[in-house]
Amino acid sequence: MDAGCRPYQPLLEDGGRAWHELLSAARHIVITAHRGPDGDAIGSTTALAAWLRRCWDADVHIVVPNIFPDFLKWIPLADEILVYDKHEADVRPIVEQADLVIMCDHGELSRMWTLGDVVRNHTTPRIIIDHHPNPEAGIADIVICHPECSSCCEVLMRLILELDGYAMGTAARPDITHDEATSLYTGMMTDTGAFTYASNRPEVFELIALLLRCGIDKDIIYRNVFHTYSPARMKFQGYMLYSKLYVWKKAHTAIMTLTNAERRRFGILNGDTEGLVNMPLQILGIKLSIFLREDTEQPCIRLSLRSVDDFPCNDLAAEFFGGGGHRNAAGGEFWGTMDDAVEHVKRAVQKYLPKLRD
Ligand code: 5GP
Ligand code: MN
Repeated sequence: MDAGCRPYQPLLEDGGRAWHELLSAARHIVITAHRGPDGDAIGSTTALAAWLRRCWDADVHIVVPNIFPDFLKWIPLADEILVYDKHEADVRPIVEQADLVIMCDHGELSRMWTLGDVVRNHTTPRIIIDHHPNPEAGIADIVICHPECSSCCEVLMRLILELDGYAMGTAARPDITHDEATSLYTGMMTDTGAFTYASNRPEVFELIALLLRCGIDKDIIYRNVFHTYSPARMKFQGYMLYSKLYVWKKAHTAIMTLTNAERRRFGILNGDTEGLVNMPLQILGIKLSIFLREDTEQPCIRLSLRSVDDFPCNDLAAEFFGGGGHRNAAGGEFWGTMDDAVEHVKRAVQKYLPKLRD
């Protein structure tokens, strides 16, 4: 069979029965995302909210644990996203009144920090829609988690098509609005570094072709997300690359660090560090890039890791930094000083040296 016409493996093994049961009973739905919401988190939650309102006539709120970057604010429905740690007293009752919680782009309650505790204590049905490996066992009634997918938005789009009975390979336009399609594309684009990693499966591009049929302008979406630098951010990037980049040649590894004092010096805003971790991968031979930054809200160091080919960032992040993620993009944290965090990174890289030298 031609690859373009291949029917996808169904996401819902029971033909959608459990989904229909939960959704038909739910009147007040809360959709959540992980702390530090990224393009995939904002794209999937907004697309899902719009689709649930349109097709399931549900009352829907989107709640995220903390603020998200300004370069995602243009996304349809982003202006109505409730930020839990900014308005805890107002948002908590909304979560506690929900009769269904749908977790997008994360499969662990701990990734929502204090919002995760509220969700955990509120015993209502839950659904996970995600693409991170190893979703937490026993916390959701339906788990739709596909680590082979590029993004949560890809999983969600396939779910929408499947529930609609859309036949892949036909010329029909899917029942997805322009706004929903825009959100979905944004998540797929941002979680794949604009389709430079985690996007070799033909399905990704088959889905994008459908989103184009729904009328998205992928060039505008790209510019809305990636071409929003302030002059300060551009200069800051130059500073980081010139003064803060350490290349460990033998380990094919690049390390960058950022303190809060440097943030203040350059007037760095939330989101201005986004994408920085990917840059050292442009150096010939670099297989692993690690970016350490002082957290702006907690006394800890946040880490972002990116790799190429089969170096498992998520294993290193889980083993040394209590984190996780995907093979080529992962994160974690370190509770201590920046110097100690860097020493810990060096120990971690040393342990993984055989894999980096290959
Ligand atoms: P980023 O570096 O962009 O913050 O995260 C990269 C990837 O790793 C994302 O898919 C993100 O969801 C995941 N990730 C980041 N931090 C953590 C963490 O502390 N735990 C887990 N399990 N995944 C994380
Ligand atoms: Mn994601």
